[in-house]
Amino acid sequence: MSVLNSLIVRSLPLVPKPVVKTVAKRYIAGDTLKDAVHTVQQLARIGATSTVDVLGEFVSSRERAEHECAASDAVLEAFHTYNLNAYLSVKLTSLGFDIDDEFCYKNILALVTKAHEYGLFVRLDMENSPYTTRTLDLYKKLRSNGFDNVGVVIQAYLHRSEEDIRSLVRLNADVRLCKGIYVEDASIAFKDRGEVQRNYKKLLRMLLDGGCSTHIATHDDVLIDDAQEYTGAQNIDKQQYEFQMLLGVREERRNDIISDGYRMRIYVPFGEDWYGYSVRRLKENPQIAGYVLKALLTGE
Ligand SMILES: Cc1cc2nc3c(=O)[nH]c(=O)nc-3n(C[C@H](O)[C@H](O)[C@H](O)COP(=O)(O)OP(=O)(O)OC[C@H]3O[C@@H](n4cnc5c(N)ncnc54)[C@H](O)[C@@H]3O)c2cc1C
Repeated sequence: MSVLNSLIVRSLPLVPKPVVKTVAKRYIAGDTLKDAVHTVQQLARIGATSTVDVLGEFVSSRERAEHECAASDAVLEAFHTYNLNAYLSVKLTSLGFDIDDEFCYKNILALVTKAHEYGLFVRLDMENSPYTTRTLDLYKKLRSNGFDNVGVVIQAYLHRSEEDIRSLVRLNADVRLCKGIYVEDASIAFKDRGEVQRNYKKLLRMLLDGGCSTHIATHDDVLIDDAQEYTGAQNIDKQQYEFQMLLGVREERRNDIISDGYRMRIYVPFGEDWYGYSVRRLKENPQIAGYVLKALLTGE
């Protein structure tokens, strides 16, 4: 990352929120469920499916968690009403994971139950490392209660992920594999880009060879090319895996992957609690300095 980009990334907390919103709007469907439905329909027209996320995380009150749960419930209703080829992604901290495990379980259970009734799927996003074991345990609890319309996420930067995948393969789990976005300590996470890529490739092979339904969530050409080469060489059925990208990121490559005949799902976040997600995305954008400076100077 250039010096200017690093400087802008460090200064983001000082950048006025309206400016951050202007720059980050490419990553977010909008404030309302209607915006998300519209985006899902637009993506369907270019041959992509979606996974929709109600923005919100690290909720500390029961009322707020119930509000978030109701918002995700409304997303499932909309998928059903409009017959959308989409599923739900949720962060457990938005459903009360920091408040009480049982309370959070009750909320996610309600969503997974409704999704099951409608023939829909729910993915538990993976948050930072204090939640890894608890998220995997909650996933296993849902599975042991008979729900198989639910999946998890594994982060390739964590040392523990190889072991986690071993247990998920035994469960024939549905897994999204990403690099990982949170800042983790070097004692538990790979820090070097090359090391993360090496681990990603290794974990991807474990998932595919283990027969898991695998979701290759990355915009990294090295990893996309590797996945295409490996699945091609092993003659892996294209129904066993799909690529996933975030809304507003690397759209040209996304379109190429679709026209090459691969399945592609886009992560579509929406809602009023856009700040934390947007800042994480901006920090990953190699053009962030240019975008923020332009927005500061022109308001666009
Ligand atoms: C569908 C999906 C779901 C995810 N779910 C989770 C999750 O549950 N938990 C979690 O920890 N992380 C999640 N992530 C985030 C992920 O861990 C990475 O932080 C993120 O995808 C960037 O890593 P990368 O593999 O794309 O590689 P990078 O090396 O970061 O990116 C590769 C290239 O893509 C481009 N690029 C990447 N990001 C941006 C951006 N924001 N703006 C513009 N260009 C960009 C750049 O050209 C960059 O060089 C998810 C990612 C995706 C795609």
